[in-house]
Amino acid sequence: MLSRLPEYIDPLHLADKRGELKGQIPVSDLDRLSDLLMADTGSVTVMLFFGRDGRLPKIEGEIEAELNLCCQNCLQTVVWPVKHTVKLGIVKTIEQANRLPDDFEPLLVEKDTVCLKEIIEDELLLTLPTYPKHQHNCLALHTDITNTDTKAATGQSHKKNPFSILANLKNTGES
Ligand SMILES: [Zn+2]
Repeated sequence: MLSRLPEYIDPLHLADKRGELKGQIPVSDLDRLSDLLMADTGSVTVMLFFGRDGRLPKIEGEIEAELNLCCQNCLQTVVWPVKHTVKLGIVKTIEQANRLPDDFEPLLVEKDTVCLKEIIEDELLLTLPTYPKHQHNCLALHTDITNTDTKAATGQSHKKNPFSILANLKNTGES
């Protein structure tokens, strides 16, 4: 069973001793993220490996969670699985950050210790879609349920989905 993670970590020290952190953080602990969710249930599974790439101290790993986002079509909960690969270069200055290899994101460390959940929260916030939506046509489903005349609803389903028309326009425009 995965344990709770420390609140503060010393990333450079962990990189020197090739440390690793595995555990879970309750979603409700992540205040900025929780504000964007329909419900802050569940937890984030965190696996981080510290080390060095040449002289560069780094954190690599994975974050996994299921977040209850608000579907921008029907405004109901859409369970959004997140599996995010972490690849951070630990830097102390902006200059160092600018010199990082392209596939690294900077983790700017100004003090010895940093708040672990803030790193995780920042990473998760980056992965959130701007317009989360159900994969199925949730608006049509909603119409079917509220519409008492099911025949009319079935007849409407023959209409072309406006998004597929848009997609066609886009394709012809590009070719
Ligand atoms: Zn929806």
